[in-house]
Amino acid sequence: MSIDVAPARPAAPLVLPRFAFDNSYARELDGAYVAWQPSPAPAPELVWLNRSLAEELGLDPDALAAPAGVAVLAGNAVPEGATPIAQAYAGHQFGGFSPQLGDGRALLLGEVIDRAGRRRDIAFKGSGRTPFSRGGDGKAALGPVLREVIVGEAMHALGIPTTRALAAVATGEPVQREAPLPGAVLTRIAASHLRVGTFEFFAARGQVELLRRVADYAIARHDPELIGRDDRHLQLLRRVCARQAALVARWMGVGFIHGVMNTDNTTVSGETIDYGPCAFMEAYDPQAVFSSIDHHGRYAYRKQPAILQWNLARLAEALLPLIDADTERAVALATEAVNEFPALYRTQWLAVLRAKLGLDAAATTAAADGDDQALADDWLSLLHAHGVDFTLGFRRLADAAAGDTGGLHALFGAAGEAGLDAWLARWRQRLGAEGTVMAEAAAAGSPRAVPADELAARLRAANPIVIPRNHRVEEALAAATDRADLAPLRRLLDALREPFVERAEFAELVEPAPAPFMAGYRTFCGT
Ligand code: AMP
Ligand code: MG
Repeated sequence: MSIDVAPARPAAPLVLPRFAFDNSYARELDGAYVAWQPSPAPAPELVWLNRSLAEELGLDPDALAAPAGVAVLAGNAVPEGATPIAQAYAGHQFGGFSPQLGDGRALLLGEVIDRAGRRRDIAFKGSGRTPFSRGGDGKAALGPVLREVIVGEAMHALGIPTTRALAAVATGEPVQREAPLPGAVLTRIAASHLRVGTFEFFAARGQVELLRRVADYAIARHDPELIGRDDRHLQLLRRVCARQAALVARWMGVGFIHGVMNTDNTTVSGETIDYGPCAFMEAYDPQAVFSSIDHHGRYAYRKQPAILQWNLARLAEALLPLIDADTERAVALATEAVNEFPALYRTQWLAVLRAKLGLDAAATTAAADGDDQALADDWLSLLHAHGVDFTLGFRRLADAAAGDTGGLHALFGAAGEAGLDAWLARWRQRLGAEGTVMAEAAAAGSPRAVPADELAARLRAANPIVIPRNHRVEEALAAATDRADLAPLRRLLDALREPFVERAEFAELVEPAPAPFMAGYRTFCGT
């Protein structure tokens, strides 16, 4: 018996996409990482590719989407010039110190210089076990990977500094969680993966020289103006405090709750990192917390600035041996820097609130600052008292500026009407005081009038209409995970790309979740 077998086609050699790697971390910080390889995925499939980000990085999106590119993004092929490493870091998690966390399911593939000349990390998450994995499997599930895609892209479009997803690849392998889930690898782009926990790792081990090298590396990468200064490590601390204060103020301004603000998730760059059990608030509630593992509300919305300061104090402690040889003096200098945080944050938060209320901040005095903060605080109290959606409450101020308060009245309901009207009168008065007036005054031809439509436009540019509503995120993740249906994910990403533009085609994505959904809403860590 003979069997006809088609002549075997010689396998076409995979031509891997080109990356112009320049791997400074691997080159300069020997001792701060372990060289490691990604685990292969049995049946990789590209779920999502961030084409515009690929271009920004100088990568060819078509090459990444081709089989050889997907092989790279799955960890099955390591492109030329990559030096995959697992980075060492420690961290305070929910207040307790873990001296060794590290990349337990992540790898830094390498760095590239993007089109704008910025150095960016290209890293995997979910690429298999490493020496830092402890009991974990080193894997990631598709749902959490796609959550990171959605929320990262949303934050980016909102103008908030963030790490971003370059790609999500399904591995074709189930990962065992409470139930088996489809596995995936996320490719994440970051200004760097240096975190407070990076410094804690070396400080806790008493490796002062390595700590100094890491700190000088951070300075060269993020604060090159400080190179060569004797007080550079103190100034690095101050810079990180400033960047993080600005970042968290921006989070607060869109109702974002990170959910797991551990020190290993607080970056040196000032980018948001690690979208695990995060969520956007709907009805304004300063106590809001959604993470299933945050039983005591440590990382509740209103606590985020204070927790950040706590994390920065951990950074200060780790940097002490570099700040001054005299410990007492080092403590005094570091304490002073960290103690300035509340004022730093207050300034940033007021700037965010002023933008959201359309208030000009050009000529401010302490008294004007106090008045504006009170006006904003009273607005927030009203939102809270009447259970008003945070995003829509601010957004509808733009319509009110243009003379239509119907949207706001609908949000506040009859019970909130008197409070709303009284507050709007104060707001109008404040706007009038700086020469910005409402539609009526503009119509009356007031000489100091800023046209109402200009004010409305300013308010719309500061207050998004589209945020990743939690029920829509869950819908998109469920469709992708349970039914391999990527249409809801794509649609949501389309809507989130221009969060400040109200478009009829995305009307349903703008609406808050039904109350029962939010009442029971919990988000889970991406592990
Ligand atoms: P994260 O919650 O992603 O910030 O991770 C916190 C720490 O746990 C890091 O050291 C991770 O590498 C590690 N980790 C999280 N999930 C896993 C996993 N599935 N396998 C191994 N390590 C993990
Ligand atoms: Mg983390």
